[in-house]
Amino acid sequence: MVPILISDMYSNAMQTTSIYNTFGIPATADRYLVVSRETELTTLLSDPSFCQKPFLMLGGGSNMVFTHHFPGTVIHLENEGINLLDTSTSHDDLLVEAAAGEVWDDFVHHCIAQGWYGTENMVGIPGTVGAAPVQNIGAYGLEAKDIIHSVRAFEVGTGRERIFLNEECRFAYRNSIFKQELKDRYVVWSVTFRLHKTFQPNIRYQALADALATAGIATPTPQQLADTIAELRWRKLPRPEVMGSAGSFFKNPLVTSEKYHQLKSLYPDLVAYPAPDGYKLAAGWLIEHTGWKGRSMGRCGVYDKQALVLVNLGGCTGDEVVALAEAVTHDVQVKFGVTLEKEAIII
Ligand SMILES: Cc1cc2nc3c(=O)[nH]c(=O)nc-3n(C[C@H](O)[C@H](O)[C@H](O)COP(=O)(O)OP(=O)(O)OC[C@H]3O[C@@H](n4cnc5c(N)ncnc54)[C@H](O)[C@@H]3O)c2cc1C
Repeated sequence: MVPILISDMYSNAMQTTSIYNTFGIPATADRYLVVSRETELTTLLSDPSFCQKPFLMLGGGSNMVFTHHFPGTVIHLENEGINLLDTSTSHDDLLVEAAAGEVWDDFVHHCIAQGWYGTENMVGIPGTVGAAPVQNIGAYGLEAKDIIHSVRAFEVGTGRERIFLNEECRFAYRNSIFKQELKDRYVVWSVTFRLHKTFQPNIRYQALADALATAGIATPTPQQLADTIAELRWRKLPRPEVMGSAGSFFKNPLVTSEKYHQLKSLYPDLVAYPAPDGYKLAAGWLIEHTGWKGRSMGRCGVYDKQALVLVNLGGCTGDEVVALAEAVTHDVQVKFGVTLEKEAIII
């Protein structure tokens, strides 16, 4: 089969715009399919010949690093639609269903414009609605799990529909059943969110509260809240259209209380957050204190404004990203005795 280029949607208009990765790494696959109708997907998923070969669900490619030719089919959903369901469960609740192919940030802005509240803190996260439950995306004090009511998905092998209620998705930090037990077993087709008619700003995240206070905004409107968050976000993160990255490359590592206190006594300015089973350390702080912030290896660098982010300095390959990630992980392990885990998916 003819290899098809999986390219950066932002870097080169000549290349296909329907397959992309925000790191901007050119990559190829045996086959690339755009699916926009439910019957196309169910027919594909119940076809025995399809199920015998590897496949990869690709949303916006904003959490992926391609290191080699993908020897199988890449599927990109382009189904559309954001619908208010008329099954509101209480006077203030709204159930809103969004197609997996919708762009997440467009969905957030659409909800704000419609007066459906609850998504605002996750404004600006790149990628698609379909990946949101898979990744359990989160930002500024809100995670997808907090607002997802249910996920509608189709089974690979049979094409059968299954509705996963929130508790069945086994959401955890940047994790869900779709990345664990059911990895590659279901394709997310749409997601239903429980939103609200009444706007109650979520300003529990300290940096957000500080930014609003500095701007003299005591009670933000939904748009002011979203704008403030977007401002904070792009101060620390590279915009995909300007510099390639996969966002936070590493997860914040979870350590025991004992390990946290041991490190805190050695490094009093260590940044960490209490977590149910210990403490979550700020991976960016750890990386910065190994001296990697702003440094590079080959054409891949550690972003100079946020050490958690690896960036494409121009023409970088997936292997260069992995090599830099390994060097950073090694140094954090040696200096702090903490193992970094990748948030980005290496293909
Ligand atoms: C600049 C930048 C900032 C970021 N900021 C944040 C942030 O604040 N918070 C955060 O949580 N993330 C952040 N990210 C990471 C990324 O935006 C999220 O992980 C996002 O959910 C990925 O969406 P995507 O559509 O690009 O998924 P992809 O990267 O294409 O895929 C991610 C995973 O989901 C699977 N998948 C995708 N669609 C489906 C589907 N329909 N059915 C089944 N599986 C599917 C893929 O196979 C893959 O395993 C950021 C990334 C960038 C580049």
